[in-house]
Amino acid sequence: MSKQLILASNNAKKLRELQALIAPLGVELVTQGALGIPEAEEPHVTFVENALAKARHAARLGGGPALADDSGLCVNALGGAPGVRSARYAVDAGRVAEGAGREHIDPANNAWLLEQMATHTDRQAHFTCLLVAVRHAEDPEPLIAEGHWCGQLLHAPQGEHGFGYDPLLWLPEHQLSAAQLPPEIKNAVSHRALACQQLLQLITARWGLGTDGATATHWPWQSA
Ligand code: IMP
Repeated sequence: MSKQLILASNNAKKLRELQALIAPLGVELVTQGALGIPEAEEPHVTFVENALAKARHAARLGGGPALADDSGLCVNALGGAPGVRSARYAVDAGRVAEGAGREHIDPANNAWLLEQMATHTDRQAHFTCLLVAVRHAEDPEPLIAEGHWCGQLLHAPQGEHGFGYDPLLWLPEHQLSAAQLPPEIKNAVSHRALACQQLLQLITARWGLGTDGATATHWPWQSA
């Protein structure tokens, strides 16, 4: 028997990244799709509420501990927008069709953001990644990890790597945009990397995997 954690996402890239990170704890990540669990609604206005709703949904239907994430770009001059609507910013504004592919939606999101920023001089922005883990659907103490990656919005896209808003976020400490940064560096320093590191520490400390817990075949709250 292995200690399983249900990932409330069917994104293969996220699964690989998180699996590598969590391997030292002797935990096996399994996607909710592999267990036949449908995706949860994300109706909330905050990252933490959406991630929590997704984690509880996966834990309820999967019958075990679950992990969920929510992420996006937050712009200071726009009061945190696009925030939880990052993936659909231009769709919400009617700038691109609902069912369009990511290759159309990402550039449309970037173009719409630049329009919204046309009159603003404060160009501070950051990516946020929120990770939530619950032991079971009614867990009163969800583990909540948050990573931020801060920069300045450019006036035009730069760079070919990454996805989403990467071409628009200038990182002063690297003197590159997030889309110009080599992917291996992005993966080590991004909002997602920071949140993952934090979550790993929380799971180790709060879920009792600190000493010989990593070799245990079951979670501390489950009977052997
Ligand atoms: P998700 O939480 O992975 O679905 O990401 C939500 C949306 O936030 C994405 O579709 C992107 O628009 C934006 N986003 C999140 N993380 C990043 C990133 O690392 N680079 C660029 N955009 C991101």
